[in-house]
Amino acid sequence: MLTAGVIAVQGDVSEHADAIRRAADRHGESVEVREIREPGIVPECDLLLMPGGESTTISRLLRDEGIDDEIRQFAADGKPMLVTCAGLIVASSDAKDERVTTLDILDVTVDRNAFGRQKDSFEAHLDVEGLNSPFPAVFIRAPAVDEVGENVDVLATAKDRVVAVREGNVVGTAFHPELTEDSRIHGLAFFE
Ligand code: GLN
Repeated sequence: MLTAGVIAVQGDVSEHADAIRRAADRHGESVEVREIREPGIVPECDLLLMPGGESTTISRLLRDEGIDDEIRQFAADGKPMLVTCAGLIVASSDAKDERVTTLDILDVTVDRNAFGRQKDSFEAHLDVEGLNSPFPAVFIRAPAVDEVGENVDVLATAKDRVVAVREGNVVGTAFHPELTEDSRIHGLAFFE
């Protein structure tokens, strides 16, 4: 039994918990999902997910609660992580916005709201490195990756912007892979 942590200080949590369970099921694994709002749980997890929401709020709450350093340590230990949308912004090395204290666990700079505001949300079928058919990606006030470090692989682009990356054990997406039934991104990050 694996323990999957979902950072739950703010943002879309239950959809991710369901997607992790579906992905685990497909890979013959069983998981217990724990929602993380306080310190002490991250070190007990085997895999960790940081969802979308509002990156300014998430980064502040992680620091206030003292969860930020636990996440940094988790990533440094080489355990698998998936960070999505605002989670990608918080995980980056630079969000180019002083209101976001980044965790610097993914060597990328990001552009918050790269595709415009809420009205500019969109869906796209993306070719993703490692998946054998297009993935239905939902973008909501999505960031884009601006610059990638030398150890970062680009997994997908949309509208000529980088929207999915991997650096070792950490996978990041600008879109919301939990909002469709397709759990292959969770599978890619955690079980392959
Ligand atoms: N653009 C938002 C931010 O900067 C993220 C949006 C999302 O997670 N759907 O936090």
